[in-house]
Amino acid sequence: MLFAQTSLGIARVVDGGLELLACSGRSLDDYIVAERLDELAYQETLGAATWEEVTVAPPVGRPGKIIIVGLNYRDHAAEIGSPLPTFPRFHLVPGSAVTGSGGTVTMPRFAAGKIDYEGELAIVIGRTGRDIPEESAWNFVAGGTVANDISARDIQMGENPRLPMASPALAKGMDGFKPLGPALLTTDELRSRRALSITTRVNTEVRQSSSTAELVFTVPELLARISSFLTLEAGDVVLTGTPGGVGLAEGRFLSGGDVVTVTIENIGTLTSTLVDMEPTLAEAVTTPSREPQTLSTSTRIRSVKESRTHTS
Ligand code: ZN
Repeated sequence: MLFAQTSLGIARVVDGGLELLACSGRSLDDYIVAERLDELAYQETLGAATWEEVTVAPPVGRPGKIIIVGLNYRDHAAEIGSPLPTFPRFHLVPGSAVTGSGGTVTMPRFAAGKIDYEGELAIVIGRTGRDIPEESAWNFVAGGTVANDISARDIQMGENPRLPMASPALAKGMDGFKPLGPALLTTDELRSRRALSITTRVNTEVRQSSSTAELVFTVPELLARISSFLTLEAGDVVLTGTPGGVGLAEGRFLSGGDVVTVTIENIGTLTSTLVDMEPTLAEAVTTPSREPQTLSTSTRIRSVKESRTHTS
């Protein structure tokens, strides 16, 4: 089954529409963390809605942790000149990076030059476990959703003047950098499909097109290896890696106004709009002409001051 967390509560996605479930104010998060997602299969419906009538929250809004697996598609490893790993490479990023489908992602002004997308299958943990055996790993999965693993590549590579160190965790863990959704495909259906097509578009241009059958380490292999180091808790999210076609490979990064969509067959399309960050007053005063602006410096300072006056 396919479930979404909407502004009208939990919904079951049926034939492209939404059946609203009677869940007494509980969220999809609550069911996942309590390891009770199975109960939703029997929940009464309250009525129907369309996607246009709701806003969508991520299937998991506050994951305890997000584990990000790198270099897990052969073509992506090749395009950035990396040998295939013999052990999954992973980083941890904070749950505060999560946002939903249909929202905006703010590009920090101090790291706006190399913002990149990565379309990925995200696995949501549905049962807490440590040293999870590969053979039974699917029993620890609540389901799968779509992720965009957004990065500030200059911070990832240690090229950002504000931060004299390489930090993949920070580069990928800034606020809003982990859009998830729009829906969660439950494990029974996810595991029955060995191959799901995955496509990333920037505006209308297809940049990534692959299949989850191309994963180097499978979902059970990933969960077994990762949980040999730390407990995977219900509600945690594991991003399984991205196929070839990222912006980094050709130096084609995102700009404010770009709309990135990631579509995974049978799950749905995750949509995010990139927006430029408004300058703070301090930045407007101290760095007047570091990069081209559409407004003159004086206009910018005045508008920032005015907006401060209005809000204070
Ligand atoms: Zn990634």
